[in-house]
Amino acid sequence: MPPPAPPAHPAPNADTLCAQALGDVDGPTGALVPPIHTSTTYARDEQNAPVAPGRIYARDQNPTFEPAERLLTALERGAQTALFASGMAACTAVFRALSPGDHVVAPAEMYWALRRWLTTTATRWGLDVTLVDTHDLRALEAALRPGSTKLVWLETPANPCWTITDLAAAARLAHAVGASVAVDSTVATPVLTRPIEHGADLVVHAATKALNGHSDVLAGSVTAARADDALFLRVLEVRATEGAVLGPFEAWLLLRGMRTLPLRVRTASASALRLAQHLAGDSRVAEALYPGLPSFAGHEIAARQMSGGFGSMVSVRVGGGRDAALRTLGKLRLWKRATSLGGTESLVEHRATVEGPTSSVPVDLLRLSVGLEDVADLIADLDAAL
Ligand SMILES: *Cc1c(COP(=O)(O)O)cnc(C)c1O
Repeated sequence: MPPPAPPAHPAPNADTLCAQALGDVDGPTGALVPPIHTSTTYARDEQNAPVAPGRIYARDQNPTFEPAERLLTALERGAQTALFASGMAACTAVFRALSPGDHVVAPAEMYWALRRWLTTTATRWGLDVTLVDTHDLRALEAALRPGSTKLVWLETPANPCWTITDLAAAARLAHAVGASVAVDSTVATPVLTRPIEHGADLVVHAATKALNGHSDVLAGSVTAARADDALFLRVLEVRATEGAVLGPFEAWLLLRGMRTLPLRVRTASASALRLAQHLAGDSRVAEALYPGLPSFAGHEIAARQMSGGFGSMVSVRVGGGRDAALRTLGKLRLWKRATSLGGTESLVEHRATVEGPTSSVPVDLLRLSVGLEDVADLIADLDAAL
């Protein structure tokens, strides 16, 4: 009788993958922390073949990217990841991988700088862009044009009111007309949502935010569900030829930041929930917007689609208009007045001022990025300012 097969090693979960950065050991040295490769070029042998197969030039290749790309691929349960110089470089590479004349559908409520790019540069370049409430599945379906819609872009929770889109349902509609689905999952992070499991073809991150987590690296990523996905192959082409690559120091810092990603995301999400509950119960507040509140419109979908928390982003409508919001903002001591999210420090932003006169964000809305401070301190500071 053959000996019993040894038990299979179970696939490690996100905490384990991150804590050990996949457990890689540097071959030549045995180092547990990877080296930083700064070389922009690679040697060739006497026959002019690359000494290290595939290594030619640093505009598209750097061994320092690869551990961070592989860790992100494992966290998203995808096939391959490409890092970019910023979140916007990653987002725009996906649209640049299409062709002029292609039709794309994107959310009316989304990361503001990308929406502006879509309605200006992308439109001038020839993309046919429809902005629609993608969380409203009937509106999404009506916006799709069988045969000519090539991409549906989704963001959930979406900036800055954290509207939830049912990824599986939206992906089914998009795929039914032959469109690819890309999800900006910056706010959710792979700790809370893995869009590929809900049907996404591409997952995009502003790694500047929670993935790096320390407000000291600008980076972006695109992860593909399938390595031979035609759109992803063109994304790789865009990166290789247009050169919006991440620097080796930034790639190294990103991997270092990702080692603590699950801890940071869960702590910030738990604090955000407590803060949102507190704000929802405060009679001075007009509305607290947070997917973890049972009263929130998309709560049930979020509860199904997210696991381990509802994210670190909360918005609060203070009531009383723009002046009241700016007064509250001005009185805060602990919260830092700055744009961005996903860092260790908590940030507050008056989006309507930042976006200017064409903004559709409610003027009494403050966007809160909850960090890792003691949540009682954060609540006390807001209480004193309201
Ligand atoms: C910040 C952000 C981006 C852009 O990332 P950058 O690194 O600032 O270019 C894209 N999408 C979302 C949701 C973001 O929060």
